[in-house]
Amino acid sequence: MISNIVHKSAVIKCPHCGAEYLPGEIYMPNAIIGQPDEVVKDSLGKIIYEDYSTPEREPSLTESFTCEYCDKPFVIEATVTYKTKEEAPEKTFKDQYVSLLD
Ligand SMILES: [Zn+2]
Repeated sequence: MISNIVHKSAVIKCPHCGAEYLPGEIYMPNAIIGQPDEVVKDSLGKIIYEDYSTPEREPSLTESFTCEYCDKPFVIEATVTYKTKEEAPEKTFKDQYVSLLD
């Protein structure tokens, strides 16, 4: 029995029995962020057009799931936010940027 485990992501709890799930057990990453077929941006990088060919490719933050422990269904609604910040000064792109590929 593992106790005091530090989770690397939010834990989703069954509202019926309290069983715990990690988001990766319930959500497919592509489903939560969507898979745009076309993104058009202006010269400054502002998105002016986005297109998803099918509803399945649109971001879907709501998921239905049946608990594996109590066999009751429940709905999960994800809240996804993205924060950005500048890189630390010593990592500016003025210096040559080296990327190692597999
Ligand atoms: Zn349950």
